[in-house]
Amino acid sequence: MSVSIRFVTVGKWETNAYQLEVNGESVIIDPGDEFEKLEDSFRSGSSVIKYILNTHGHFDHIGAVNEYKKRYNIPFYLHGKDKMILRQSNLMRKFAGIDGFIKIPEIDHVFEEFESIPVGGDQIRVHHTPGHTPGSVTFEIDNMLISGDLFFHDEIGRFDLPGGNEKKLKESINYILDNYKDYKIYPGHGEPFVLDDNVINDIKNLIE
Ligand SMILES: [Zn+2]
Ligand SMILES: [Zn+2]
Repeated sequence: MSVSIRFVTVGKWETNAYQLEVNGESVIIDPGDEFEKLEDSFRSGSSVIKYILNTHGHFDHIGAVNEYKKRYNIPFYLHGKDKMILRQSNLMRKFAGIDGFIKIPEIDHVFEEFESIPVGGDQIRVHHTPGHTPGSVTFEIDNMLISGDLFFHDEIGRFDLPGGNEKKLKESINYILDNYKDYKIYPGHGEPFVLDDNVINDIKNLIE
């Protein structure tokens, strides 16, 4: 089994977009902006791209979804509770100082409870981890967690944006800290990091 991940940072908000590759198949996660830049970096893998999976529907994570859908004819997956957030993307982009309007992508599949997504003979497990947005999810494969904005580098994510909920965010973070020690977190912004004892302690202190 060979699982590899690469990321590229795109757009004004420096969002991490990921390509997760498993045995010749891959998924694109959070293609936030700058489609051509993503294409240049991700196409160097020779895998067949199967889906676009989003950790959540925020404006800075969805900017290149339609271009991926069009170029590869692949479906876009999102949690149903982020439909509203997705619809507000152009308003949010305007507030965030990003120029131009985007066409809001159609959701082709909403994640179900405890869903697993098959890729390259393996499974990506989908965990509902709300708080940053109502429909935020974390993807698990091997010893990796692609968390979206649940974490920002080795800090907790924001809960002050539309749809955020502090209590839920802390519950979701505790769930991850309690069950995924020594996993590597690939956050929505900033460098990946490992959930070792020190990091777990630091984050627990932050959310007390
Ligand atoms: Zn976000
Ligand atoms: Zn973000």
